[in-house]
Amino acid sequence: MAAINTVLGSICPDALGQTLIHEHITCADWSMRMAFGKRYFEFDKVVEMAVCQLKRARDYGIRTLVDGTTINLGRDIHLLRTVSEISGMNIIASSGFYYQEEPWLAMRDEEEIVSLLLDECTNGIVGIDSRPGIMKNGIAAEGVTHLQEKLLHAVGRVSVLTDLPIFCHHDPSVKSGFRILEVYCSCGVAPNKVILGHAGDINDQAYHEELAKAGCYLGFDRLAYDDSDTPVANSIRNIVSLCEKGYRDKLLISHDWASYLGLWESWGKTASADYAHLDIDYSYLSREIIPMLKASGLTEADIYAIMVENPKHFFAG
Ligand SMILES: [Zn+2]
Repeated sequence: MAAINTVLGSICPDALGQTLIHEHITCADWSMRMAFGKRYFEFDKVVEMAVCQLKRARDYGIRTLVDGTTINLGRDIHLLRTVSEISGMNIIASSGFYYQEEPWLAMRDEEEIVSLLLDECTNGIVGIDSRPGIMKNGIAAEGVTHLQEKLLHAVGRVSVLTDLPIFCHHDPSVKSGFRILEVYCSCGVAPNKVILGHAGDINDQAYHEELAKAGCYLGFDRLAYDDSDTPVANSIRNIVSLCEKGYRDKLLISHDWASYLGLWESWGKTASADYAHLDIDYSYLSREIIPMLKASGLTEADIYAIMVENPKHFFAG
């Protein structure tokens, strides 16, 4: 089986172990970091907070974390390497772009975007020996716009050239999953190389089943957020039901947690929190969600499949 790129080098698929398929160390904008310095972001403090939470997750058996922070969500490869080195957690970095419609993407043609992405996926990010292990697109509630179609195409083509799999953030309320798969398919991407991220955000089993039948993976990957839009109880019920219907091998679960979510959280508030004892962190799945899944009927073998086997098959093909 093919080797998998982590930020500290390649590992064999069996070394992935229990894997959180969609998390972030941080989402913190580079322009904001440059403009506001320590009022917005402190590198050493983010390292400290992230390492503390990752060590807690390691104590619960998690071995690998896939960081879904794209180039334009503030990906910082030096941060990911430092955090991985100190915590001992395997971290897989993403290439590709989130859903905001930016002029430097809108004005570039597909060929140039393919060339830029292919370079970092082949030679390493910003000239250092860390290659992305996964590609990413983001499709918001507007669905597949003109710009996003170009980005889906570019990522799909690089995925075919490099054999890297793809995570696509999508908004299941507008059911854009089929259109996304269609665009990837037009580039030659097989559905089993794709996770439709946040599929679990909608309480619609017919949609989940249709996607699973199409061959992609489904992300029930926001289990840190038990709110009125996405009650965890619905996700638990839907995961169990999909397993009962024979779709266990298409399910991936995660938190979508970030040690510092610079999109909307205040830096001061995040940095002053008791981050060693948070109710929700990278270990919440192990502490709370997996026991709930077991109480709802999933077996130890089901949990092993979802946490270990499915990520391995997704990455190794
Ligand atoms: Zn995310």
